[in-house]
Amino acid sequence: MPIGTCPECDADVHVDTDTDKGELVSCEECGTDLEVVGLDPVQLDIVEEDDLDDDEDEDEF
Ligand SMILES: [Zn+2]
Repeated sequence: MPIGTCPECDADVHVDTDTDKGELVSCEECGTDLEVVGLDPVQLDIVEEDDLDDDEDEDEF
């Protein structure tokens, strides 16, 4: 089973062998949601959980 490193807390994060890029895993140490961005070696990126509201649509005056 491949192991990645949590960018948040440097803990080992186990990734399923059939995991594909773009899948999400959770760090068991800190609970951060991580996206698989690489598989050989396993690379993990923190998923920002900010709500993408409609803020992008700023009012046009
Ligand atoms: Zn972590």
